[in-house]
Amino acid sequence: MVSVEEALQKILSCIEVLEPETKPILDCSGQVLAEDIRSTIDIPPLDNSAMDGYAVKADDTHGVSEASPKILSVTGKVAAGSMPRGKVKRGSAIRIMTGAPLPQGADAVVPFEDTDEVARKASHRDLSQIGILREVPEGMNVRRKGEDIAKGSLVLKKGTVLRPSKIGVIASLGRPTVAVIRRPIVSILATGDELTDIDQPLPAGKIYNSNTYTIAAEVRQYGGIAKILGIGRDSVRSLEQKIDEGLDSDMLITSGGVSKGDYDVVKDVLAKCGEITLQTVCMKPGKPSAFGMIGKGSRKIPHLGLPGNPVSSMVTFEQFARPAILKMMGKSNLAKPSIRAIMEDDIVNTDMRRLFARVTVAKRNGKYYARVTGPQGSGILTSMVKANGLAVIPESTKRVKSGDIVEVQMLDWGEEVY
Ligand code: AMP
Ligand code: MG
Repeated sequence: MVSVEEALQKILSCIEVLEPETKPILDCSGQVLAEDIRSTIDIPPLDNSAMDGYAVKADDTHGVSEASPKILSVTGKVAAGSMPRGKVKRGSAIRIMTGAPLPQGADAVVPFEDTDEVARKASHRDLSQIGILREVPEGMNVRRKGEDIAKGSLVLKKGTVLRPSKIGVIASLGRPTVAVIRRPIVSILATGDELTDIDQPLPAGKIYNSNTYTIAAEVRQYGGIAKILGIGRDSVRSLEQKIDEGLDSDMLITSGGVSKGDYDVVKDVLAKCGEITLQTVCMKPGKPSAFGMIGKGSRKIPHLGLPGNPVSSMVTFEQFARPAILKMMGKSNLAKPSIRAIMEDDIVNTDMRRLFARVTVAKRNGKYYARVTGPQGSGILTSMVKANGLAVIPESTKRVKSGDIVEVQMLDWGEEVY
């Protein structure tokens, strides 16, 4: 029996980062950049106004106030998206909108509210002149060319995970496509003579195949593409045939058939089509699991055999399949987001394995508190439904008492990739 860390290390040592693909930026959310992004333009491309107002020479506003305004002649106007005609000379101003390029000669913008424009309009006075009511220093309300991104600069580094702000910044550079590490295709095979497809009536003695759907949803949540192989029966032939269908993918995940009490068919087939390098992990739920490389000829893919019990399957997926998928996608942070919480229930951990207790975490007065979600049997999938975290109880801890601090892996924190 190996520790969770040893098992993870073994698995990750067999996982390779996948190749890049170039595709539309909006399809790259949550993927890892496979190229450095440099800017070929300045952003903003020109000096421009940060306010609606009047472009002026700051010198012309020196010493002005509401009591002694300076009257400037208005020689034109410029809207966002057009280029200014004419220059701002001493004693003059050009009416300007937010985002419009700053006219030559101007070095500051006086916002409308610091002029007498409203009063002039109300009293039908001449708008070919404007009264400046407040002094502005040079550069006031001006956004400088290249102040956000300078032409030639490195904007995003290879290895960056693309999130909305980063997709936006790539768009601002005028790039419709980008190179990212491709998403892994993960084949999913449920095994067991007791399983029935979810669109069929349920015969006596059978159960619906839920693991395929939990696993497929998890694969998608972490950025992979799920290929559903359906149900393999507990016979070597059936499994071999199904596994064959999955060999063109990047990883195969099976559920069931790896525990001692089972017919051990998954193990038999694995031994035939590949090798099992790892069998049992010192964890609960999830002790029976298998890992190895599987395939034909020179093409071999990693195979992770999860336990059949729905909770064990999910917990094992979180510990091993998730980091494997993230690694294939080129991600470097593989750790599950975790917090420290105060337990509000006692937990008993008798058999010296690492226990992943399903808990509900709530924040009160700035502290996290965790409660066990009720019955913890590895077949009770609703214990996962109620949970938003997995409390990690070390192998050596026999008992956690209410009030003790525990580490909790948070289940749905910041991992959505769509
Ligand atoms: P096994 O690891 O094959 O011995 O499976 C253990 C138990 O997990 C079985 O008795 C089933 O109750 C359950 N199980 C196995 N596969 C699935 C599945 N695909 N969906 C739901 N439950 C399953
Ligand atoms: Mg089975």
